[in-house]
Amino acid sequence: MSPRLDLIALDGPSGSGKSTTAKRTAERLGWSYLDTGAMYRATSLALHRAGVHLSDTDHVKNILAKIEINQEGTSIFLDGENVSDAIRTMEINQMVTPVSADGQVREAMVKQQQRLGRRGYWVVDGRDIGTVVFPEAIAKIFLVASIQVRSERRLKELTDKGILTNLEEVALDLERRDLADSTRSISPLRKAEDAIELDTSKRTVDEIVDLIVAHYEQRRTSL
Ligand code: C5P
Repeated sequence: MSPRLDLIALDGPSGSGKSTTAKRTAERLGWSYLDTGAMYRATSLALHRAGVHLSDTDHVKNILAKIEINQEGTSIFLDGENVSDAIRTMEINQMVTPVSADGQVREAMVKQQQRLGRRGYWVVDGRDIGTVVFPEAIAKIFLVASIQVRSERRLKELTDKGILTNLEEVALDLERRDLADSTRSISPLRKAEDAIELDTSKRTVDEIVDLIVAHYEQRRTSL
């Protein structure tokens, strides 16, 4: 598919800096920002609250048809309730891996994401945005960072929220999720062929945003 959609797809492993970068890039361009990881997290929370197991496919289907997930700025709402903190616990980190590997869940999420982003002017972060959700995005970025840097960032985020954990536990969780995300059969985490890779370990957020905006401008004018 030819790259025509005025949209920036930002993929990469957990803790590579996607949400912060996506948020700031969207602010810089005056675009909207979509955090697709939060959608899988909110779905995990909804299934957990309803006590539904993934193997109960009819029940999962009903829940998917019923729930409403919205993003306002950086806050995530599940059926009108702000669940921004509730979806970022270690428990949801565990649950989101099987939930996001489920075909029925992915189909519903991808449809919703495509509906939202189809008019363009979105920065969308996730794992399969450049490969599956918006293969026609003008600019595709694959963010990476060392496991040490990623774990330190995630530990700070969790500690700031008052969640008790340690660097080793956080590193294990990141590695577990990366392995599951990149080896699952449906929409695995993968760098799109036409994506550029940026390492956020030793660069500031502003430097990364500069590189992304420059790449987007260059792609837009060369098409
Ligand atoms: O980005 P974040 O860490 O919040 O994403 C939570 C989980 O949701 C990831 O570990 C991954 O399993 C899943 N995910 C996905 N596809 C996306 C975004 C997130 O499978 N587009």
